[in-house]
Amino acid sequence: VSEAKASPTLLLKDIQKHVHAKAMADDRDQKVIHPSEMCKDDWCPRQTFLRIRHYRQDDAERLSSGRSYSFQLQNIFEEGHDVHRKYQGWLAEMGRLYGTWVDKVDGEIRHGHTLSAEDYATGNWRYKEVPLFSEKFLIGGHGDGAVIDLSALIEVKTIGMGTLRFEEPTWLNRFLVETVDGTSIYDLDKAWKELRRPLKSHIKQTNIYGFLAKEMGIPIDRVIFIYEYKANQGVKEYSVKFNQDLIQDLLDKAYDIKKRLDNDSPPPRKPEHTGPEARVCKECPFYKECWDGPQSEAEQDGRDVGAGRRKPKGRSPRRAPGAGRADEAEPRASRSSRRPHRSDGPATDEPVQPTGSVDELPWRSTGRSGGRREGGKRRTRQAQGSRGAGEQD
Ligand code: SF4
Repeated sequence: VSEAKASPTLLLKDIQKHVHAKAMADDRDQKVIHPSEMCKDDWCPRQTFLRIRHYRQDDAERLSSGRSYSFQLQNIFEEGHDVHRKYQGWLAEMGRLYGTWVDKVDGEIRHGHTLSAEDYATGNWRYKEVPLFSEKFLIGGHGDGAVIDLSALIEVKTIGMGTLRFEEPTWLNRFLVETVDGTSIYDLDKAWKELRRPLKSHIKQTNIYGFLAKEMGIPIDRVIFIYEYKANQGVKEYSVKFNQDLIQDLLDKAYDIKKRLDNDSPPPRKPEHTGPEARVCKECPFYKECWDGPQSEAEQDGRDVGAGRRKPKGRSPRRAPGAGRADEAEPRASRSSRRPHRSDGPATDEPVQPTGSVDELPWRSTGRSGGRREGGKRRTRQAQGSRGAGEQD
């Protein structure tokens, strides 16, 4: 080895460009409401409305030009895809995987079909998961799989530090430990061992899938979660019956968006978690429409956006009053709208934010595997006061 360089100048840069182009071209599902965005605590229906309206106006090219991109995020998604493919492959080899199948040779498509193990063994069939869609609510997505002899949708999730920190940070705080040098770290192996229920956001998301499946006449009444721990590939399984009560408020909001799209009437910025300083707004591709400039609708409808307002990083200069319709600004993509779609294969379990309305469930996992201790801790003690106020579990 004559020289080792850490900068991506030879091959990695080309790979990143390739993956970027693929991600930017993948805009096929942007005209529907995604279950993954609906189950975020800070979901803004107005953002969903504006995104769909842009794409309906065939403005995808301009939307894409303003989209931000993270190779690391795409990399995480691909890891999730690989795990999905693994379990889908095993179920298909068993002749129990239900969904949409496409013959790679002659293009035949079989919807709502459980492929036999013999047919799968020919290598001619590609799995297209379980497409789910409701015209009435304009919600669309894909289940990872379904097993009809168990009346179950299958959801495969990978669990790691990022997922838990993003989705259940308060619960994760139970596992904060302090090293002798005063550093606080998470005992992630212990958290994994004590995870006795699916994450709340996953339950909400899959209840939306269950609702869509029911609308489409797919004979399932539960979801089976397969959780795989990223650190050591340990697995757990949970089975949860669908319960529409958990998502009725979200369905109502989706229905409202659909009606407003028909009337071209954007939802107001009502949720308390929105505002010029709110994280969801700072990351939103439609910030300018809502909060930038004296002519914004925010000010027109009387919201106080002036005091202490800080301009988010990288925003364009303030638009002159009357310089064009709000929608003509170039929006950036939100995290959820950057999510790869599943038309050509399984999507990853993009982390979603914590939900607050699902209580801890009484069941335990039906399978488990031990954790692995990370090295480097000399001596630990439970961090004092690590359970934050308002912890839900
Ligand atoms: S800027 Fe905020 S209020 Fe406006 S659409 Fe985006 S998230 Fe909603």
